[in-house]
Amino acid sequence: MICPYCQTQAEFISSKDFYGTNYRTNLYVCRPCDARVGTHGRGKTPLGTMANAELRELRKLCHARFDVRWKFGKVSRYIASVFLHVIFTLVRTNIAFNAPLRPITFVH
Ligand SMILES: [Zn+2]
Repeated sequence: MICPYCQTQAEFISSKDFYGTNYRTNLYVCRPCDARVGTHGRGKTPLGTMANAELRELRKLCHARFDVRWKFGKVSRYIASVFLHVIFTLVRTNIAFNAPLRPITFVH
């Protein structure tokens, strides 16, 4: 897997070697960018796209906001997941075009 930030080959490593704990998964890691993505189980298929610390934090914020909504029945989990997909796509598009990341404002 190529790191989307620096375009170099990511390191393939077990969770035990990376975290020191065996989560029975692997990771693709780019240490200079602090970017990583886990895999499905012990395989090589990534769970998604590599994320650096900033994008991981954005993903956590998105999950925190939307998990509350679907867990309390404001929207269905499906609609919340579609919305998250759109947001992640926008963030990836910003990265792909090398544009600065802008804060995302949520409408309540
Ligand atoms: Zn990188």
